[in-house]
Order: sequence, then structure tokens, then C-alpha cells
Amino acid sequence: MEYRATLIPGDGIGPEVVEAALRVVEATGVRIEWERVEAGADVFVKYGTPLPDEVLNSIRTTGVALKGPIGTPIGGGFKSANVLLRQALDLYACVRPIRTIPGLPSRFENVDFVIIRENTEGLYTGLEHRVAPGVVESLKVVTEAASLRIARYAFELARRQGRPTVTAVHKANIMKLSDGLFLECARRVARDHPEIEMRELIIDNCAMQLVTHPEQFDVLLMDNLYGDILSDLGAGLVGGLGVVPGSNIGNECAVFEAVHGSAPDLAGKGRANPTAVIRSAAQLIAHLGEPEAAGRIERAVEAALSDPANHTGDLGGKATTQQLTDAILRELER
Ligand code: ATP
Repeated sequence: MEYRATLIPGDGIGPEVVEAALRVVEATGVRIEWERVEAGADVFVKYGTPLPDEVLNSIRTTGVALKGPIGTPIGGGFKSANVLLRQALDLYACVRPIRTIPGLPSRFENVDFVIIRENTEGLYTGLEHRVAPGVVESLKVVTEAASLRIARYAFELARRQGRPTVTAVHKANIMKLSDGLFLECARRVARDHPEIEMRELIIDNCAMQLVTHPEQFDVLLMDNLYGDILSDLGAGLVGGLGVVPGSNIGNECAVFEAVHGSAPDLAGKGRANPTAVIRSAAQLIAHLGEPEAAGRIERAVEAALSDPANHTGDLGGKATTQQLTDAILRELER
């Protein structure tokens, strides 16, 4: 069977690491016809938008995409193409598994949790305005419908994966209405899942617990901004941004991408770590219905990373993108 999927190479290190992922997917024998579309900074210069309709239409047709990172200008310029994409396709659940990879230098040995980030609202609505000179407002939008939907996703995932707890992360002591609603929705959904224990943790305490006792967590449910920040923290617990995959899931489509951004400092040097995008591609093929091939990629990545000679600069080594990719391919062929 041949599948169809959309491919967005992205900016910065995106094209290099996406190319590495394509080689690995091909080596599994899973056949995918990729529909290549462009989004990002160069596209903005040409067409005045970082996310042309062609990209959205392609994903609506294929239902699934592998996406390289797209950079976002700071303090001005175009809106984040990543955020626009998630909102336009209603990719409401951002799923980021944070798991210890044996063989990688890390302070902890048994980290294994999943961050479920609400992906469509919160402070990411981009609704900001200047009220008076020197005064701006940024609107955090929380709806009951989106909060219930993401909480259901988190509890369902916990049930499917046999994870005993879901921890709702919030700041409802300060944002009593917005985070209060998010938390209340999580409590309502928890009542339908008596087999799963719901815990509640204020975001600052959660950040501290994550860097002292991360092994206690199974599923962490949180809003958009908290999920953005704690995902990078989680990546830091298990080897860094270069290794953590992610997916953005909606009812109609799913887009798979690494947690990291476009890393412009490394672009074009052939030194980026391709692991995060390769593991995102593994999640994509599992989503297409090829979990066995996805498992083979995961095992090949772990085996390749167990040798420090294959570590890229972010992991403290000297290997290039190509050397690490070749090592993963050799492991796949074993
Ligand atoms: P963006 O604006 O797209 O978010 P950024 O550089 O601000 O880009 P990230 O790309 O997420 O943010 O990463 C921060 C730093 O982490 C990078 O500058 C780079 O040094 C390192 N990094 C991120 N991803 C990788 C990777 N795949 N391989 C090696 N280093 C990486």
C-alpha cells in the first residue's frame, strides 16, 4: 500500500533534518508519496504570507504532514506560521512524549511522560492591542469547549497507554477565571475516568518538580503557553531539543514536527541533530497504520545513539547530521 502525505521542509535546519527523516522512512519499506509544499520566511517574501493556502489544502487532502521547523520573527513581522497552521486546521492536541533515551547523557534514568498541550487558544490567540501609550493588553482566551476537548484527549491517551495519572497544570490561584475554567473542565472529564487518578499542580511547582522528580509524571495536561515552555524543559531532561518529537492532532488532520525551532545558528552547516524529526516521522507512520515500522525506527535511533561516536554537537559529540543518519540507517538494516 502506498500512502500520501504532505511534506513541509521549513526554514533554517528544517530542510536538512527533514531530508534525513525521508531517508529513514524510505528504509523502513513504508511507501509514501510526499506532496512537497513550501511555508516559512522565504515564502513570506514571495507571497506575503508564511502559510499559503496551497499548504493547508494539501494537508486537508492528504490528512497528514511532516513539517520542518519554521522560524518566527521576534517582536514584529509575520505571525507564526506554526500557530496559524494549528489554528487553521484545528489541530487541537499537541502531543510531546518525553522519554529517557538510554545512551544519552542525562541527569535522570526513568523519565517517561507525555505533555498534552492545548494548541488552539490561551495566550496564542495573538489578540493584543495598545490601550494607551505605554500600555498594551494581551488576551488569554479559554473556552469550555476547547478545555473539555483537550482534557478528554489527555485522559483517553492515558487510558490507551496504560498510564495511571493525569496531572493538570495551571495557575488558577492567580488566573481564577481562565485557568479556573481549564481546571474545572479537567475535573469534569476526570469524573468519567475513575480508573485514572487526576492530580493538580500549579505551574511553578510543576516546573520545580520536573527538574527534581520527573519520574513521578505520566501525562501532563496544560494550556498552550505552559505547554510551550514545559516542552523545552522536558526536552532538557532527556537529551535536549534535538531528540524530542511531537505531533499536532485534530479530528481531520495531523501534523508531525519536532519540538525544536529552526535553529538559524546551525542552518546549512550539516551539524543539526536529525533525531527529533526522524522520531516525529516515526510517529507519522504509526499514525498511518504502520506501528511496527515506527517501532523499528525508534529502536534504530536508540541503538545508534548508544554509541557516542554518533552524537551530534548538541549531545556533546562531533558527528554530522549525515553521520548520525547513516548510523540509524545501518541499525535499521540489521
Ligand atoms: P525558532 O525561532 O525557529 O524557534 P530558535 O533558534 O529560537 O528558532 P530553537 O531552534 O528551538 O529556537 O533552538 C534553540 C537552540 O537549540 C538552537 O539555536 C540550537 O543551538 C539548538 N537546537 C535546536 N534544535 C536543534 C537540533 N535539531 N540540533 C542541534 N541543535 C539544536
